[in-house]
Amino acid sequence: MDDGKIIGKTTPEWMPVNVMEEIVIRQVKKAIAEMGGCGCDICVSDAAALALNEIPPRYVTTQKGALLESIDSTNYENSTEILVSVTKAVMKVMSNPRH
Ligand SMILES: [Zn+2]
Repeated sequence: MDDGKIIGKTTPEWMPVNVMEEIVIRQVKKAIAEMGGCGCDICVSDAAALALNEIPPRYVTTQKGALLESIDSTNYENSTEILVSVTKAVMKVMSNPRH
């Protein structure tokens, strides 16, 4: 019989995650707050998408659903490249919001 079949529900899934996504989303929210823009999900996502298209991805292997707290994001958060891309993206969304 095949009653030993594992569906995989309890097996942790390993997957590549772009750590830039989390860092950029955090930076976008910060920039929007500082610049007085709309901080709704649409505007944050739009700005993050624009910025992420300019910033090279940085993938790590992680377990699905795991927090990325083990990643030292400080280096990236102080990156001028990210700040410039995020600021440009936020300004673009602020000047032409989708709603
Ligand atoms: Zn909005």
